[in-house]
Formats: sequence, structure tokens, C-alpha cells
Amino acid sequence: METRHLLLAFVLLSHTLTTGMWWMGGTWMGLSSRAARYWLIASLGNGVGLCLILLPGSGPAELRILTACSLAALAAIWMRQGLQVFLKLPRTEARHLALSMALMGFNILVCVPLGWQAAGVAVSAGVVAAAMLLSVREVYHPLKREFNRGTAWAASLMFCVIALCAIVTGLSQLGPNWPWPWLDSPLETRQFVLSFVSVTLSILTSFVLGYIVVMRLVGRLEHLSLHDGLTGLLNRRAIEAMLARETQRLERFNQPFSILLIDIDHFKHVNDQLGHPAGDQVLMEVARRLQAEAREVDHVARYGGEEFCVLLPHTEHEGALQAAERLRESVCERPIAWGTVNVPVTISMGLVCADNPQETLQSLLRRADAALYQAKEGGRNMVVSAPTPNEAAAPH
Ligand code: GH3
Ligand code: MG
Ligand code: MG
Repeated sequence: METRHLLLAFVLLSHTLTTGMWWMGGTWMGLSSRAARYWLIASLGNGVGLCLILLPGSGPAELRILTACSLAALAAIWMRQGLQVFLKLPRTEARHLALSMALMGFNILVCVPLGWQAAGVAVSAGVVAAAMLLSVREVYHPLKREFNRGTAWAASLMFCVIALCAIVTGLSQLGPNWPWPWLDSPLETRQFVLSFVSVTLSILTSFVLGYIVVMRLVGRLEHLSLHDGLTGLLNRRAIEAMLARETQRLERFNQPFSILLIDIDHFKHVNDQLGHPAGDQVLMEVARRLQAEAREVDHVARYGGEEFCVLLPHTEHEGALQAAERLRESVCERPIAWGTVNVPVTISMGLVCADNPQETLQSLLRRADAALYQAKEGGRNMVVSAPTPNEAAAPH
């Protein structure tokens, strides 16, 4: 078996896998389906182009090679288009379509009949390089923002390497020795090396794109596992993990913090009188007001049905009491609108300040809960500070 046949088998296998991966990911699993569709076509186009180069008996050489180059350029354009969709960037579909048509027309209708193979290859390579470099410029910052610097660098590096290979391929059309001596080898060897590099880059690109799709999915799952679906606030699991971390910090570095347990007053009446959707609207608006009033460093969570928990890091009792009063007022200062009905809403709060490194989180939460209970007993719409364990134990 010739090396060419081995390479052909490699192209077929790898591109069937990458095309299949985008088809399965986009259609069956619904992962970024619109972007996956562009990447599927790009992978397919690239694969067909490489097969055309590696199958010498499949038609006139010039037509084969220029069709393959056109497909490579279109694949680069489709890949950029997929990135624009994936990252919700401004789309350049019309320009891409015009460029694709012009390139195909030039390669097939001009270069093939006139025997301008070098010009066609050089122009196609220029289009690939431009699409890749424009992609780097567009996607670096969005990728860094959504994922991290490493991912943005990996993708940009990948696109730069493809652009560089395209530039070398384009320049190699200037003469047999251009730009490096190995290009002085027979045409067969050049095409072989080029195909090998192309297939490797194509596989690596699919890997990088697959990675960012999976990372987005992981990020979404992580967000879902830590946030409440109705209010968008942190959920109980997330706030409990943060409270545990704050308790450790208190133990190690003696950094006090405070916890507010909040409960909406007579919330059942809202559900009973106006229905569950009205209750949901009240929950969402209370959550919004609490989040808006809290400092950026505070963490607001939905703790249970109509209960919320606020973690105030680096905050001692006096500061926490002021913050609690501010939050309470922000919720009750104006009623919440439900259609034409204005629903007056108040909240009760139990406040506990964690300043004793010996005290466990369970004990802190128990004390906050007891203080909340007292606020309810005391007439609601108020903040009650939990007495310290010593105060609570002292005879009245
Ligand atoms: P109190 O002032 O003593 O806290 O009285 P309350 O009516 O607020 O307290 P209670 O615990 O009796 O009622 C809480 C209600 O919250 C009962 C439950 O149906 C409702 N609830 C819990 N989760 C949700 C939710 O996600 N949406 C809606 N609409 N209601 C909820
Ligand atoms: Mg309750
Ligand atoms: Mg309640």
C-alpha cells in the first residue's frame, strides 16, 4: 500500500469522525446546534478537498486541485461563520457569501480554463489566511471572557498556525524554490506534505472547537447546579458551601462575618389570594430587590421556599444590623405590582454575627433561625439579632 493510500485512509477516518462528531453534537445532543452545523460543513468540505488532492485518478489535475483549494477556503469561511454564531458576534454572512461565490467563480471559471493553477491556489490560500486572522481578532477577547486566557490563547494559536501554513502555501506558488528548500521537492511530495499538515490542523481545530463547546456545557451545568431556577440567586447548596468556607476563614484568620436569614411575611396569603404565579412574581421581585441592595461582596441566596440567606463577609454585628435594616426597607418601601393589584410585602430577619472561631456553622444557623422566629413572634417586618450563646444562657 502506498503512503498516499494510508494518508487517504487517515483523511477519511478523521473527517468522518469530526463530521460525525458535529452532526451528533449539533442534532442529537443539541449542543450549540447552529454553530455545529457550520463546523460540520467545514469539516466535510475540508475532507472532500483533501480526498480530491490525494486521488490522482479522479479527474483533470487542475480542476481537482483548484476545487480542493476552493473547498479549503470555504471551510475556513464556514469555520469563522460558526465561531461568530457560537460567540454571538456580529455576523458577516453576506460578505462571506459574496467572497465564496467570487472565489469559486475565479478558481473554476477563470483559473481552470486558463491554466492559472498557481494563481488559484495563492488566492485560495490568501482567503484561508484572512479568515483565520480575522477569526483570531474577533474571538480572542470573547473566548477569554467566557472561558479563560488559556483557551483563548490555544484557539488563537491554532488559527494563527493555519494562517501561517496558508501563507506559506500561497508564497510557494511564486516559484519552485519559494520560500523554503523542501518546497523544491517533486510536486507529489509537496502535495503529500501539504495534505498531511492540513489533515493534522483540521483535526486539531475540531479538537479545540469541541473543547470550547464542551466547556460551555460544563459552565452551564455548573451554573444550574449552583443557582435557583426561579430567582436566579445562588441556591442553598452554593450558599452553604460559601458559609462553610467563611467559617474556616474565621477559624484560621479570625475574620468575622454575619448571616441574615430572611423570610417573607404571610407569603401564603399571596399564593392563596392571587395564585401561585403571583407568589412566584413576588419571590422574583424580592430576590431582585435584595440583590440590588446588597453590596457586591455580599452573597444573596434563596435558602428555601420563601426564605433567603445573605452572607456578609468581613462584617461585624453593627455593620450587619445596618445592612439588614437597609435590605428590609428596600423590600417593603413599595408594593410589588401583580397586574392591576399592588401587593404589599414585608420580610422578617434573623441576624447572627460569627465572631467566635469555636462555634460551628450548625450552631450559627440555629441561632439565626431562632432570631428569625423571634422576629415573627415580635410582629414581623423587623430584624432581630441573635444573642450570643453566653447571653442566651445567662439568667434573665
Ligand atoms: P410567615 O409570615 O409566618 O412566614 O407566614 P408564611 O405564610 O410566609 O409562611 P408559610 O411557611 O406558612 O408559607 C410559605 C409558603 O410559601 C407556602 C408555600 O406554598 C409557598 N412557597 C414555597 N415555595 C414557593 C414557590 O416557589 N412559589 C410560590 N408561589 N410559593 C412558594
Ligand atoms: Mg417560611
Ligand atoms: Mg414566610
